[in-house]
Amino acid sequence: MVINNTVLSTTSFFQSDAWLFAVYIILTYEIVFWFSNSFLIFIELFDIPIIDQYRIQKHKKKLRFQPDIVHLMIKETIYHQLSLIFLTPALYFIFNYFGHIDIQGIRPSWSTILFQLALFILSEDTIFFWTHYLFHTPWLYKHIHKKHHVYKQPTGVTAVLSDPFEGIQTQLATWFMPIFIKETHIFTVCIWVAIRTYQTVIAHSGYNLPYITTQYWLPELMPGTIAHDFHHQHGKWNYGSFFSVWDQIMGTHRLTTSKKETN
Ligand SMILES: [Zn+2]
Ligand SMILES: [Zn+2]
Repeated sequence: MVINNTVLSTTSFFQSDAWLFAVYIILTYEIVFWFSNSFLIFIELFDIPIIDQYRIQKHKKKLRFQPDIVHLMIKETIYHQLSLIFLTPALYFIFNYFGHIDIQGIRPSWSTILFQLALFILSEDTIFFWTHYLFHTPWLYKHIHKKHHVYKQPTGVTAVLSDPFEGIQTQLATWFMPIFIKETHIFTVCIWVAIRTYQTVIAHSGYNLPYITTQYWLPELMPGTIAHDFHHQHGKWNYGSFFSVWDQIMGTHRLTTSKKETN
């Protein structure tokens, strides 16, 4: 009887919403993160002229010739991967404390999914811009954001390498709207995880690859890889994530600079 109860409770745990939420979110994230990063690691390890012509910081050596920064990236990436095991279940409880996420119910209509995704993108872009802008004020930059700016020559994995306090900023920007709208479905949330992961990994890729980087899609509105790479090179300007609209309003959208401005 005791054995039966144990089997039953184990089975119900693996069918629970909390478990399924963690599995769906982590799987979606890991597939997009490692699929895109495998490609970026491959092109850093091997010289392929047809791809290398799109490398943004060609005046610098490829990352494989910079062992110190590569060791730091590997160590910090392992910490980040481990942190997901604890953060994802916490996210499930935050979702259900402030709203509700449907895990096993029927998928919403595509119009609902697309409408919610548009809200998620607009909300993330605004919160990310303003919190990132604040992180470039002297005290916050020195004590928190500088850890992300160690990577002056970014590659995909550096997208998630930062101080834990900055991690909270990123999570707030990503999850504010999905939690705020109260009623979401895991299917929509997984698409959102895939979009957000792709966007940030590609923005840090270090390559201006045609049609893979987002500035090719809407050049007037989407800053893409060139802008965020420029941000890492100079430690200022281009604070937005999906769009350059806030940067254009605030006069911080830059893709070129004079010698005086870089000092
Ligand atoms: Zn920054
Ligand atoms: Zn960055």
